[in-house]
Amino acid sequence: MNTGIGEFIRESRIAYFSMEIGVRSDMPTYSGGLGVLAGDTIKSAADLKLPMVAVTILTKKGYFKQEIDKDGRQIELPEEWDVNRFMTPLQEKISIDIEGRNVHIVSWLYIVESAAGGKVPIIFLDTDIPDNKSEDREITHYLYGGNEVYRLKQEIVLGIGGIRMLDRLGFEIKKYHMNEGHSSLLVLELLKKYRRDIEEVWDEKLIWDIEKVRNLCVFTTHTPIAAGHDKFSYELLQNILSDGISINLIKEFAGGEYLNMTLLALNLSRYINGVAKRHGEVSKGMFPGYEIHAITNGVHSFTWTCDSFKKLYDKYLPGWANEPETFVRIGRIPDDELWNTHMEAKRHLIDYVNQETHTEMNYDILTIGFARRVTAYKRADLLFTDMERLARIGNGKIQIIYAGKAHPKDEPGKMLIKRIIEIKERLNGRIKIIFLKNYNIDLALKLVSGVDVWLNTPQRPLEASGTSGMKASHNGVPNFSVLDGWWIEGHIEGYTGWSIGPSLDTATDLQKDADDLYYKLENIIIPTFYNDRRTWIRIMQNAIGKNAYYFNSHRMMRRYVTEAYIR
Ligand SMILES: *Cc1c(COP(=O)(O)O)cnc(C)c1O
Repeated sequence: MNTGIGEFIRESRIAYFSMEIGVRSDMPTYSGGLGVLAGDTIKSAADLKLPMVAVTILTKKGYFKQEIDKDGRQIELPEEWDVNRFMTPLQEKISIDIEGRNVHIVSWLYIVESAAGGKVPIIFLDTDIPDNKSEDREITHYLYGGNEVYRLKQEIVLGIGGIRMLDRLGFEIKKYHMNEGHSSLLVLELLKKYRRDIEEVWDEKLIWDIEKVRNLCVFTTHTPIAAGHDKFSYELLQNILSDGISINLIKEFAGGEYLNMTLLALNLSRYINGVAKRHGEVSKGMFPGYEIHAITNGVHSFTWTCDSFKKLYDKYLPGWANEPETFVRIGRIPDDELWNTHMEAKRHLIDYVNQETHTEMNYDILTIGFARRVTAYKRADLLFTDMERLARIGNGKIQIIYAGKAHPKDEPGKMLIKRIIEIKERLNGRIKIIFLKNYNIDLALKLVSGVDVWLNTPQRPLEASGTSGMKASHNGVPNFSVLDGWWIEGHIEGYTGWSIGPSLDTATDLQKDADDLYYKLENIIIPTFYNDRRTWIRIMQNAIGKNAYYFNSHRMMRRYVTEAYIR
């Protein structure tokens, strides 16, 4: 392992800040979509040899390890892991005044290396060192853990600590990219860094070079859900952070009433974007007056293609991993080879499931997958709106695999897990359903490649993008999804997959969505799967040739470079 930072500070870089980064399954520094996207972003940057450095926090106890008790209740346990297995500690130390104490921060270096030769360093910030009091040592333990005091301290470490650490390590930075608002306190540190050297000041604002900071910052917003935008009271901020910039000035940028992390980032970024076309529009409605662009998310093709498909692509589409546009030639792959490759992935998943859960799922039954963070708007139970109808349509013809974690404080999310587990018992003997615990990157790859159809049922327009469906596409698995997020752009009915419910922003009607789901399952999806394999394989081809071709992080990064970074 290369231990030095030296090779990375020779050229000026784009600093990518994210509260979570998921680069590998056994490094639990991510909770879900946001972190996996960050990991995919960094991997594509490495493949494309972009000069980037990423900054995040070291969550030594992970997000959480999920257990499900016999009543279907989720239990959260710490996820202990050995940091030394993956990273090297760096010697440099910085500090921040938090609650009047000098909190020391160190960092660890993890290097993402591309098969193509590029490298991107990730700096993991860590407060768990003997110099700190025990409560300060815990600041970087749990991703999204604790109460709002804990969260604010984490965001101070990420935003302000991140900038100080990059400086201390000797990085020269040409752009700061905030992946979601958790890191937006970094703009305050940048204001300080670039403050003007003026002797007598009658207007405080003259000291701060606001335009300079704005020109350096890029902000990506990730959710249309209000609760997803962190807000802290100024009282709390004053109690915790006593660090140079007056509250009055912060209020000008972050809102008069609360410290709104999204507003802070919006007001001090030159380029702002949402993560799909529709999400860009929705964000404009939420934040009128700001110029908000859209760069639709993508996934890292090599990471999200299973072994059997990797072999197939290597044979027919050499170079595909670093040039996913190659998927345009998907038609070169013979139908039977495409199907056999899928069956290999499916057997791999079904064997795993049968072994883990002692069920007897069948290789030949249409298998539906649904796995993502479990939270109310994603409506994991839409499929169960009318259980008798589902049982009648699917009896002996479908089997369903679920997985997902609910945030420890998301009670409705936890109830959904319980409900799925109850319904699994009720449908026992008619439709096999299983719930796999500890959804993570490895399990996600098994699922998106091993099922026949990838289901997504969010309440419109709350799914900003969604990325698991793009992962399915990379493995020839068609999507069956509500028209929201990326699917609005990727969907061609009966060609790349199928929609659920209306396409327009009509008021959400749960019953209509469920009716459409049942109708298509019964009359289109089940019959095509069993009786018209040729058409089914055409749809699989289009999932790859139309969806994976476009919804990959190489395309996404090229757009960040040309539209956000080089400006
Ligand atoms: C891709 C991924 C997600 C995000 O899936 P969505 O479809 O965006 O909800 C969440 N968790 C893991 C482990 C993933 O790999």
